[in-house]
Amino acid sequence: MLLSLIACVAVRPAHTENPPVPAPCRIGQQAPAIGFWTWAANAHVKVYIVSADFKPEEIPYLLKAFQNWNSVSELTGSGVKFEYEGNTNQELSCGNCLTVMRGPVFDKAKRHATELKVFSLHHDQIISYAVIVIDPVLSNPKTLLDAVAHELGHNLGLLDCYTCKKKSTVMNQFKTINVPNDMAMPAPCDIAQVREAYKELKVRVRPSPPNRNLLDEGEEPVDDDTPIIIPKP
Ligand SMILES: [Zn+2]
Repeated sequence: MLLSLIACVAVRPAHTENPPVPAPCRIGQQAPAIGFWTWAANAHVKVYIVSADFKPEEIPYLLKAFQNWNSVSELTGSGVKFEYEGNTNQELSCGNCLTVMRGPVFDKAKRHATELKVFSLHHDQIISYAVIVIDPVLSNPKTLLDAVAHELGHNLGLLDCYTCKKKSTVMNQFKTINVPNDMAMPAPCDIAQVREAYKELKVRVRPSPPNRNLLDEGEEPVDDDTPIIIPKP
């Protein structure tokens, strides 16, 4: 079972291969590009939190991010629902399981403070299980909420959009570590793009997304997350 390692930090949106979306959702301006990992259509994703890693008052902020995406599940056409199953003591690898935990993933040079680990049983873009790892440096609960909302965008096919206008998408960057970007709710263009992603999924399933460890020249590194896929023996 092959997985590739991804530590994308600043990724330019792939403009060319996606169908155009109606104005004003222009890719790279208000809308993130698609072509990333996705939970299967209509998946009921079981969410587990390593609650020992978080302060009790932080948990509702984590859960709010899932609720926000659940609330647009019909609008996006994904049918994906995140269902909170409670506590776990370790990262889980059951089918359609998503673990949220803390871990030392902060990278000063790349300024990312969250990582998404994705496993695909069939080596394609469909997620079998995933883990969101949040560095302790993210202590502001509002930042936690925004960061998880962003990660879930990655879970539904969206790529980062650092060129997008401020507050136009949850896939925008976090300018400063531990400061919220005030994007906890999927924006209209996020919904439109997830819709595109799941429309495409009905026609074709892409292979696992390529390693996106790209730090484009001229782009500021950001304190984003971004996906790491861990090879399993
Ligand atoms: Zn990201």
